[in-house]
Amino acid sequence: MPARYCEVALPVPLRSTFTYVLPASLDAKLDGQPLVGRRVVVPFRRRAMIGVVLAESAKPPNIGRGVSAGGPAAAAAAPAIREIAEVMDLLPALPAKLLELGEWISRYYLAPIGETFRAMLPPEVEVRHEREYSLTDAGRAYLDDIAQRLTLADAERAEAELLRRFDDAHASDAASESRAPGRRKRVDEAAAETLVRRGYLTARDILRHRETRKQKIVAWLPEASERPFGQPEKRVREVLRDAGVPLPLEMLLEKAAVTPLVVKRLESAGMVLTWEEPIVPGEDPWDTDFTPPANVLNAEQNAALADIWRWLVAGKFAAGLLHGVTGSGKTEVYLGAIEATLSRGKSAIVLVPEIALTLWVGRLVRARFGEHVAVLHSGLQDTERAREWWRVRHGEARIVVGTRSAIFAPLENLGLIIVDEEQESSYKQEETPRYNGRDTAVYRARLEGAVALLGSATPSLETYHNALAGKYQLLQLTSRVENRPLAAVRIVDLREEFRRQHRATPVSESLRAAIALRLEEKTQAMVLINRRGYSWSLMCRGCGALVQCENCSIALTYHKNRQRLECHYCGYSIRPPKQCPKCNSEYMYYVGDGAERVEEYLHEQFPAARIARLDRDTVRTKREYQQVLGAFAKGEIDILVGTQMVAKGHDFQRVTLVGVVAADLALGRPDFRAAEKTFQLLTQVAGRAGRGELSGEVLVETYYPEHYAIQYAAQQDYVSFYEKEAQFRRLLHYPPFTALASVLVRDRKMENAIRWSRALAGYFAPFEERGVKILGPAAAPLARLRRDYRFQFVLKSPNRAILGKALAGALDFCAAKQFPETAVIVDVDPTSLS
Ligand code: ADP
Ligand code: ZN
Ligand code: ZN
Repeated sequence: MPARYCEVALPVPLRSTFTYVLPASLDAKLDGQPLVGRRVVVPFRRRAMIGVVLAESAKPPNIGRGVSAGGPAAAAAAPAIREIAEVMDLLPALPAKLLELGEWISRYYLAPIGETFRAMLPPEVEVRHEREYSLTDAGRAYLDDIAQRLTLADAERAEAELLRRFDDAHASDAASESRAPGRRKRVDEAAAETLVRRGYLTARDILRHRETRKQKIVAWLPEASERPFGQPEKRVREVLRDAGVPLPLEMLLEKAAVTPLVVKRLESAGMVLTWEEPIVPGEDPWDTDFTPPANVLNAEQNAALADIWRWLVAGKFAAGLLHGVTGSGKTEVYLGAIEATLSRGKSAIVLVPEIALTLWVGRLVRARFGEHVAVLHSGLQDTERAREWWRVRHGEARIVVGTRSAIFAPLENLGLIIVDEEQESSYKQEETPRYNGRDTAVYRARLEGAVALLGSATPSLETYHNALAGKYQLLQLTSRVENRPLAAVRIVDLREEFRRQHRATPVSESLRAAIALRLEEKTQAMVLINRRGYSWSLMCRGCGALVQCENCSIALTYHKNRQRLECHYCGYSIRPPKQCPKCNSEYMYYVGDGAERVEEYLHEQFPAARIARLDRDTVRTKREYQQVLGAFAKGEIDILVGTQMVAKGHDFQRVTLVGVVAADLALGRPDFRAAEKTFQLLTQVAGRAGRGELSGEVLVETYYPEHYAIQYAAQQDYVSFYEKEAQFRRLLHYPPFTALASVLVRDRKMENAIRWSRALAGYFAPFEERGVKILGPAAAPLARLRRDYRFQFVLKSPNRAILGKALAGALDFCAAKQFPETAVIVDVDPTSLS
């Protein structure tokens, strides 16, 4: 039998795969089945790791390709190929199309192949990582030495005790200890690691299989010829036949009122079949008492759906943009498209930008399509996510609703991918692999010959540009359902307010009055403030400095309920200092009102009102989201204050006022998407008002009322905004008119970051002549983050292929120069340049 060599992608930040060979013992078990797409356990350095097989061949790599020319010396120098320790899945975890998708992501986004595939694989719930220690010769010598001594310090005694636990000579003691009722104490890892560093212990990581609780399942064998048997056996047959499906043993015994012996007898007579299955926790019952609205589609919805039907019937790749104003009923079009997809025997993915929205959309989809729906997002526990993932892989769920990473759902026969609110920056992953879920969706649809449907009221410049260029087909919903009017938007000029009031309050007088009116009318209000915390920062009046994070070049945010100043980037936090850390002045004051302060102010103003806040400080789990949003939907809350979390998607019928506090926050940032983001946020949030039968009003507070992003948002005029913004982008060479990438160089030591940046600048220089514009290296907008100094290049080119070459070459260059793997970060199509 020829040997089987495998290319395995491992979750390490390296751009290569690794070769392993399948040992004969495992090969025999596999019975000739292919390994590609399967997860395997392999030794890597001193660890065991789970990877996925990308390719298989009968020849070891590079043999016959010039190695022999080097003679035996070269062959001997080649490291031995290590063996696969275990093959994990009966069914390959990743189907072929997903392997192809992963390769594309790795290539297009210049992401390490192993880390890309790790993002695509199910959570490793079957195994747990453990560290195993053993005593070295030096450790044994040290123990002997200590045994000679008469007096020992406490620390030495503790060390010796720990070392002895790994001494084989005392293994019998250890074994008897472990049988003692108390069981062996867990090893203190920190102490053990210290001894590893001193050379007394060695450590290696191993993978242990987790014990999953299993249950026995019993099935009646239909083809079994019936033999005469007694009453108990007959009852087992009745119960299994009535159920129509195999049953867990426990349940069967109870229902048939028989003893296990009866089942054993039937089994040995070949009448039933039994096997073991892991016990899965029960379904989450949150959506049991929900009846979806029964809507009859209007003309525009029908027209859009008819087009989508046509694409589905053609059975080829197509991409469409569903541009529908807020409240135009895009969700109904999605549901219709899913129905059409299922009716053609295909499966569908629905991506939403927020975990909270998986609940709303998931509920609608589940109400319509029942058990065929799986929900996937990062807020699930690993076991829960693994269960959903495998349900999809086994074809039990044919619709997946989820956030960004659900684009990797292992569905086969995919017919439709919907990306709701396609413009959202949450579709971009800001860690390796830095992919955009929306663009990956379009690529996956292309691979699978499926339809990609991007939906939005405020499409990203890129997507609208593609639609105008004819790359995507444009579907439009121009009016709200039942011709409900769009909410009226009023701009509150804060300069004017200040002139009249001579003071700045957390919420303007106009907004306060508008809220008071809603409380009187007994309708609901939402207040959006896109800043967490109580105050944006703490400032010294003596020297003007803001209290900064120790690890990042960013001012700390004050959280009053926790009495802390916190960094929203790295989590660093301190008690608010009484004196300035720079000049010792005692005159410290808080600047800028955040969501916590706005909520407090509203409590002061409206003591009888029921007020809740929704942001990452008040809700952390899916249940908490549900509680707050559920209470608001039921009318148990009068005013909901929140960050942009409240702006998206939700459909509240009794909201008649939306106030936006500090609407222009983003406009002050050095970000080429600032205007776009402001326009989107304001339009989205305006879309939350007046969705039911009551009409709505939106108040937007700003210091720049004349800015075009604010003006066009107030008029809810997307096309005019697009045209104006597109002019700027074209002039300044930004997407969608040029391809953009950023390259960040970072290190704890500033000298290193500078040195490596300079070297890279030298590498990039020749690409200027090939049409790549190179800006930098310059200090990144966040010049220091989590203790790293950061320098940045921005690369632009109308030619994506050359830009890609420059970037791939840069990574090779860094590898050749032996810059650390984590020092250089390439971001292709970045959503922000910080
Ligand atoms: P959006 O386009 O903002 O995503 P939704 O899909 O949330 O809008 O729909 C807004 C509201 O309109 C929902 O309450 C939905 O049930 C309702 N709706 C959708 N289609 C119709 C229709 N054809 N007739 C009446 N109501 C509808
Ligand atoms: Zn000071
Ligand atoms: Zn920080």
